[in-house]
Amino acid sequence: MMLKIKRVPTVVSNYQKEDGEEGSRRGGGCGRNCLQNCCLQDARLPLYAFKKVDSIVAGNDGAGVPEDDKGEPPVAFLDSLLLGEWEDRMQRGLFRYDVTACETKVIPGQYCFIAQLNEGRHLKKRPTEFRVDKVLQPFDGNKFNFTKVGQEEVLFQFGASEEGEAQFFPDAPVDPENSPTMVAINVSPIEYGHVLLIPRVLDCLPQRIDCDSLMLAIYMAAEAGNPYFRLGYNSLGAFATINHLHFQAYYLAVPFPIEKAPVKEITTLNSGMKISELVNYPVRGLVFEGGNTLLDLSKGVSDACICLQENNIPYNVLIADCGNRIFLLPQCYAEKQALGEVSSELLDTQVNPAVWEISGHMVLKRKKDYEEASEENAWRLLAEVSLSEERFQEVSDLIFEAICYSGDVNGTDSEKLLKDVNVEHHQPVEEVNVIIESSHPAMVPGILN
Ligand SMILES: [Zn+2]
Repeated sequence: MMLKIKRVPTVVSNYQKEDGEEGSRRGGGCGRNCLQNCCLQDARLPLYAFKKVDSIVAGNDGAGVPEDDKGEPPVAFLDSLLLGEWEDRMQRGLFRYDVTACETKVIPGQYCFIAQLNEGRHLKKRPTEFRVDKVLQPFDGNKFNFTKVGQEEVLFQFGASEEGEAQFFPDAPVDPENSPTMVAINVSPIEYGHVLLIPRVLDCLPQRIDCDSLMLAIYMAAEAGNPYFRLGYNSLGAFATINHLHFQAYYLAVPFPIEKAPVKEITTLNSGMKISELVNYPVRGLVFEGGNTLLDLSKGVSDACICLQENNIPYNVLIADCGNRIFLLPQCYAEKQALGEVSSELLDTQVNPAVWEISGHMVLKRKKDYEEASEENAWRLLAEVSLSEERFQEVSDLIFEAICYSGDVNGTDSEKLLKDVNVEHHQPVEEVNVIIESSHPAMVPGILN
């Protein structure tokens, strides 16, 4: 059986038209000033080249890159470049609505969920069927993808510097041979500065995380250097609607509820990366933080993501704290929805619980839901997104097994992790470091060999 849900797709680009609609012709090429061969000749876009840093002490002052390693940035990445260019596109009227005019409030309660009334996001579109039971699907060039966006929607190219220091070129050629990574606006923003990070856009990669792509997203968070600028990722089956590799990001100057949720530490690996589990939060998830280098963190989290992808488990990722803290949330809402297991009361809200909603930023489409927004309602929706306690345990075990098998974890880590993984998950927070007998003896021999 193929599981599908119907939903109104978010229009992220002005070129994401209904079939048959033509964009207005202007200039040369195909007339859309797109990112394909027809329009890339002589194309020029700003280029921000970040400094690749290997010796990052994560967690210092919330900044991923120590100031003395960083040098003077050639341009203020977040304020001048990203937000400056974003505002320029707003002035040019490229967005479908004015997100700064959307009402937003903090919902009273312990967690301070954030509610936004966004009535413009789903207008003028027909619901479309999405297959939600396959996390990995091949790229399909006939469907909308980011090579079809107009160059005016691109803010800048983003890549590693070859000079050992950050560089900025306001007007750099676009080199199709090197398939540049692009930062583009989302024309249906849910917050100020809402952009898309599209790794190696011309390679037409499907929506699928690997270490290199995650590393780019982490570098972007580190380069922004502001904990209120986060990046998010939705897998297929977890409310991504475009099967072309992309992350989202925006700026919102309040803590997300998920960032404030208590955690219990499960283990710290030799690389310095700590893995914890969220407690007392409606969606069960893992938290990865620290590591001697950002690469350690990217490796650990991408191993976990690859494991989920290979096991066909939909998931969302939030990159917080300047790239130093990453939340991984396997979810099952779309599957339940397809199976008819979600109440009509929740379905009627048409809220798609993707990474931002799971993190506690509830984007509501109906005034009624906005007015009645309460912590209880937010919790009730998010509880449906979460895996059950039992299933989460199974999935966590798979993830830890994958991290253990990965070449970067040495024997000591594997032994430590295997013991730590089997911590009883029902214990109160203060008892979590108690190690109990392994309940997965079969895992041990393979991993310790
Ligand atoms: Zn073109």
